[in-house]
Amino acid sequence: MTRVHNFSAGPAALPEPVLHRAAEEMLDWHGRGMSIMEMSHRTPDFEGVIAAVEADLRELMGIPANYKVLFLQGGATLQFSAVPINLLRGKQKADYIVTGSWSEKAVGEAKRFCNVNIAASTEADNFTYAPTQSELKLDPEAAYVHVCTNETIMGVEFPYVPETGNVPLVADMSSHILSREIDVSKYALIYAGAQKNIGPVGLTVVIVREDLIGQPLPGMPTLLDYKPHADNGSMLNTPPTFAIYMAGLIFQWLKDQGGVAGIEQQNIAKAKCLYDCIDNSGGFYRNPVRVSDRSRMNVPFTLVDDKLDSVFLKESLAAGLSSLKGHKSVGGMRASIYNPMPLAGVEALTNFMRDFAARHG
Ligand code: PMP
Repeated sequence: MTRVHNFSAGPAALPEPVLHRAAEEMLDWHGRGMSIMEMSHRTPDFEGVIAAVEADLRELMGIPANYKVLFLQGGATLQFSAVPINLLRGKQKADYIVTGSWSEKAVGEAKRFCNVNIAASTEADNFTYAPTQSELKLDPEAAYVHVCTNETIMGVEFPYVPETGNVPLVADMSSHILSREIDVSKYALIYAGAQKNIGPVGLTVVIVREDLIGQPLPGMPTLLDYKPHADNGSMLNTPPTFAIYMAGLIFQWLKDQGGVAGIEQQNIAKAKCLYDCIDNSGGFYRNPVRVSDRSRMNVPFTLVDDKLDSVFLKESLAAGLSSLKGHKSVGGMRASIYNPMPLAGVEALTNFMRDFAARHG
């Protein structure tokens, strides 16, 4: 068996020890003669699993007691709707900070439910930076402010937490949750699709301040109302049991890495290694993002001549480096280097990049 270094943006690489453990437990979880996937969610066994997963996430992120943790389905995309449905709470307007494709998509859904004020947009500069606090045109009467703190496609990560006064701050952290230390109490709501830093696809995590839920827009589907999910311990209907179990294994692995503080140091080293390689390539590789706002998780880069793209992809794959093709809206390459990607994987990539540039430059 040969495993590649997988730079996919999501679903993405998982830690190898986690995959081994899941494989070992696949046919017989803890002597029950069945896999976790085959077990009812209404068993004490699964109730124990989901409780431990929540406790571990609370510990890893330092989630205060007045926040609910919800394990949902529908991806981060469904949260683009669930957020306005739950947080408008009688108001008719919300602020959105637009820094790339995902915040744009969030705006598109929010417009179905309320008036959207674009508090800032970096579109005119091809989404190459995060607006500073003074550039935000915030409305003190808005129901909430929405931000995508790491834009997966453009590779732009907020280096600061927007200050929104009394207006609740909502963050789509899909592509960098658990990659760096954050102060959860600065946010009213955090959501993330699991398939990057949390586990396999099928699970969406929502962390929400409990005083904000329970007043959804009337007439909405029950499954889009956070309150019954919270009241039923994320078991309002059948939850994605396997994805939750896998998230639990990953949280254990994360603790072995020294928790979020430990993995953050690894992520800083990995990002430095890759950006240094790009910046020191004499223009052969380029990343357009403002240095202070460059994502530690998603690193898009172009080659000096796009005619080399297909050769780069073919040769990199042959060298055991997979899924480097950039998103079609940006072109070039993108290396997603989430928590599970070891520094050795990034070093293998940068060694390849230097060699490729020497041969084709
Ligand atoms: N937000 C961000 C930042 C993302 O990266 C993605 C997926 N790549 C989404 C939202 C949408 O997630 P999903 O496909 O889980 O709906």
